[in-house]
Amino acid sequence: MPDERFLDDCIVHAAVVLADADTLIPDGALFLQNGLIEEVGLWRDIRRRHPKAADWSAGGQLISPGLVNIHTHLELGYLRGKIPDPAKFPDWVCRLFELAPPPEQLEHVVTESVSDGITGCLRYGVTAIGDITRHAAISRRAAADMPMGGISFGEITAMGRARGELTQRVRAAEVPGGHAAGMQIGLSPHAPYSVEGPALRQIVQHANAAHRPLAMHLAELPYEREFLRDFSGPLGRDWPLRKIIDVLDGEIPAFDGSPVAWGAHWGLLKSNQPVILAHVNHADDADIRLLAGHRQLSVAMCPRTRQYFGHHHIAEHPCLKMLQAGIRVCIATDSLASTPDLNLLAEAACARQDLPSLPWATLFQMVTQWPAAAMALNAGRLHPGLRADLAVFPVSSVPRSAESAIAELIASHPPAAAVVMGSQLVYGTLYC
Ligand SMILES: [Zn+2]
Repeated sequence: MPDERFLDDCIVHAAVVLADADTLIPDGALFLQNGLIEEVGLWRDIRRRHPKAADWSAGGQLISPGLVNIHTHLELGYLRGKIPDPAKFPDWVCRLFELAPPPEQLEHVVTESVSDGITGCLRYGVTAIGDITRHAAISRRAAADMPMGGISFGEITAMGRARGELTQRVRAAEVPGGHAAGMQIGLSPHAPYSVEGPALRQIVQHANAAHRPLAMHLAELPYEREFLRDFSGPLGRDWPLRKIIDVLDGEIPAFDGSPVAWGAHWGLLKSNQPVILAHVNHADDADIRLLAGHRQLSVAMCPRTRQYFGHHHIAEHPCLKMLQAGIRVCIATDSLASTPDLNLLAEAACARQDLPSLPWATLFQMVTQWPAAAMALNAGRLHPGLRADLAVFPVSSVPRSAESAIAELIASHPPAAAVVMGSQLVYGTLYC
């Protein structure tokens, strides 16, 4: 008996197929083969060409490309709702440390957070993620048998007296996840206040040689600049966490300039691999000029996390200027420690609320095509030759245009009814 969840050599059809941000096909269908999309078009045409193929229906719903969330930390899922009032970011990080599980519970807590996190992604139609992990071995083991694409970025800190451990930390961040792992391995130098410049340069050189994509938190906070200048400010010497993680020494090179300029100075923009910069809340025109023109580089903007930290006016994010400069800005969730769920369409709704001039089509590209390109994935649109990663969403009626379909999807940001990854039905239901 054939596996009913395996849809290869099958047709999948629905009232409407949203193939990309500009293409809506009423009564549309896809023909899937070898885990890829072989054909996209009108159901009656595809049916005629493949009369013997099994036909799976999503009924009166909409088939969209699987969504792509390029910045999250699944392993922090256990912190959901645990820090309701974040005060300032440095205090929030101290709370994260206080709430970290004791060593004997670490494996269990991380495993559960990652597996719940993947289920939480599928629930909202997300088929690929950029996941940052400090516990790469445990996270990757937990994800190995679960359906999720994208990149698992092993997080690295390397500063001051800890610099001698860099090689060992890079090795730990690269540990493989097991035979069934759907995610590639990447590296994440954590942030300008936890990785010193020479260590960043070494990590980038290693990533180039080993073909590892990179992700880094950069220009998230206004305090990064003062830290880089003379190790002062809320992230500096007097930060309570500095006293616990006591690594600052006299050999860390200071830098008088913006975090983006610092990253450029230490080679971050010279990577020949995909580079995802998380947040970049603080970038002036000179920074935007530095970032523009690097096609391997993308920015992950996390709208509800910005709200959570009290950046109530997301319009302050320089994303409009970045988009004008041709920088690939994507929308992401960040972790459940700072956003209520992994609903990427809800993040897009939040971005639209604060930046009403962002076109619906752009918002949709920011959660599909662009984050897929950011991670060099063969996905993000429903086009022939791309991976058969599909999400099915309910719609109230058949939309008239791609724009009205996207507007409804984002405004209502419903849970997905079904998710197909590489021809496997991995979540929800379709009807034969
Ligand atoms: Zn993050």
